[in-house]
Amino acid sequence: MKYVLVTGGVVSGLGKGVTASSIGLLLQACGLRVTSIKIDPYLNTDAGTMSPFEHGEVFVLDDGGEVDLDLGNYERFLDSTLTRDNNITTGKIYQSVIDKERKGDYLGRTVQVVPHITDAIQDWIERVANVPVDGKEGPPDVCVIELGGTIGDIESMPFIEALGQFSYKVGPGNFCLVHVSLVPVLSVVGEQKTKPTQHSVRGLRSLGLTPNILACRSTKALEENVKTKLSQFCHVPEVNIVTLYDVPNIWHVPLMLRDQKAHEAILKELNLLSNAVKPDLAEWTARTKIYDTLHVPVRIAMVGKYTGLTDSYLSVLKALLHASVACHKKLAIEWVAASDLEEITAQETPDVHKAAWDLLKGADGILVPGGFGDRGVQGKILATKYARENQVPFLGICLGMQLAVVEFARSILGFHDANSTEFEPETSSPCVIFMPEGSTTHMGGTMRLGSRRTYFQVADCKSAKLYGNAKFVDERHRHRYEVNPDMISEIEKAGLSFVGKDETGCRMEIVELPSHPYFVGAQFHPEFKSRPGKPSALFLGLIAAASGCLESVLQTGGKVNKVSINGVANGIATGKVHQNGNVYSNGNGLHH
Ligand code: GLN
Repeated sequence: MKYVLVTGGVVSGLGKGVTASSIGLLLQACGLRVTSIKIDPYLNTDAGTMSPFEHGEVFVLDDGGEVDLDLGNYERFLDSTLTRDNNITTGKIYQSVIDKERKGDYLGRTVQVVPHITDAIQDWIERVANVPVDGKEGPPDVCVIELGGTIGDIESMPFIEALGQFSYKVGPGNFCLVHVSLVPVLSVVGEQKTKPTQHSVRGLRSLGLTPNILACRSTKALEENVKTKLSQFCHVPEVNIVTLYDVPNIWHVPLMLRDQKAHEAILKELNLLSNAVKPDLAEWTARTKIYDTLHVPVRIAMVGKYTGLTDSYLSVLKALLHASVACHKKLAIEWVAASDLEEITAQETPDVHKAAWDLLKGADGILVPGGFGDRGVQGKILATKYARENQVPFLGICLGMQLAVVEFARSILGFHDANSTEFEPETSSPCVIFMPEGSTTHMGGTMRLGSRRTYFQVADCKSAKLYGNAKFVDERHRHRYEVNPDMISEIEKAGLSFVGKDETGCRMEIVELPSHPYFVGAQFHPEFKSRPGKPSALFLGLIAAASGCLESVLQTGGKVNKVSINGVANGIATGKVHQNGNVYSNGNGLHH
């Protein structure tokens, strides 16, 4: 097993996660099997209890792990399926050591950060690195480890110590350290400054880690003399210094690394040159080019709670993007803060209220994402009602689906106080209720989490067709409440159809309004399994409907064909769709 460690220096937010994912993709393109580990030096056991407002979205894995959003980047770039153990936190490590201590496994010894915590970290890395994540048998070739935070943070010290020991243990030729740093340009003189990088490399060395590769974030490519200087002061050969300059979109990052031969430098450090082939990124390159040239917009209103921090809905945005690129449309997101649509805003700040409604009404499609807590719930219901009544393509995810049921019960069945018991425990029409197996005392890891199967009840419905006429689909969940099974027949009689249910038939998974051009709600989160070349079926449906080509996509069982993209003769337009609705193309270098 070979290891690539990615650390960050100078400032946070340099895009370490994207860099690490891109390195993984590049090595994969060289024919290697790659897995990834993200280390988050915080005390939370997992990301499940953390606010998306502070940390960005909580990403959910097949096994129900609630993890850092960087694991989403890994899965999307490498098309892998990770497990909760691929995300290490200080909390998880300490918990495992304390559990062992309570069992008496340390035989009376004093339990300390070094060696007990540091050993636990190394054991964890070694164990998880060997687990295949690409659906094949046997251990991967390379494990990319991203250390969260910035070198010098107090929290990451035990991890740095452990990784220093680990690099010594696995030995030269098996470990490559990529340090991501910043080379700022002072606007007055326009000069690329190396001092911050020098300092952060010095910090790294003083902690026992030696960088093999420097990846420098800068607005433009590094000048030769700047590279020479960095090389001299940081003791890194010039050929091992790459620039991560600003690019139009993150799909360029692996290409930019390849162009600077980062893979050769890494493969050399890992003694893998003879095992690897020339990187094949033809499909990736073609898709990136298409993305760059899109100009016909598709406007999607995101009616959410956290509209200030787009990372809160990162996977939803990525899924919308994958679908838009497949339909050759330029994604334009209109952020609508749900509470701005509410009557109370009309009274307090009428301008804000009007602006929000104007945005909503100008959109080609409306998406209500998942969420917790009652802020903005009424606004989301109003947006849903607008979409339903005005034939605007709509996708409701998790809470969005639950509220679509609430809205329907209120408007069509006339149950004026219909609600979810999450927001109104005493409602006389509880259309959404707490699931019997949930915990009311513990928040962490107690939801219905991870991959569950949905069986289609109606073959002739839009979602089944979008999923390639599959009998069932496996998608990821994260919820405590569900549609009340006792109210299903009444709701269905009024015209809302529950087209997907779990294996018991009692839990509602997908709703559709057959009389509407595209009105779909899913209890699961389809965004977590969307991939750049394989857009998620329900997102593809939304984007296709919003760009007026849903009919042709449905007729071909979820395919995006020539007709559907109005005269774009090239690219994914000629693709065909796999069983699960993923778009594959042929003859254009975009096949997967
Ligand atoms: N709050 C809702 C529930 O717990 C929806 C959750 C979500 O959207 N992820 O069921």
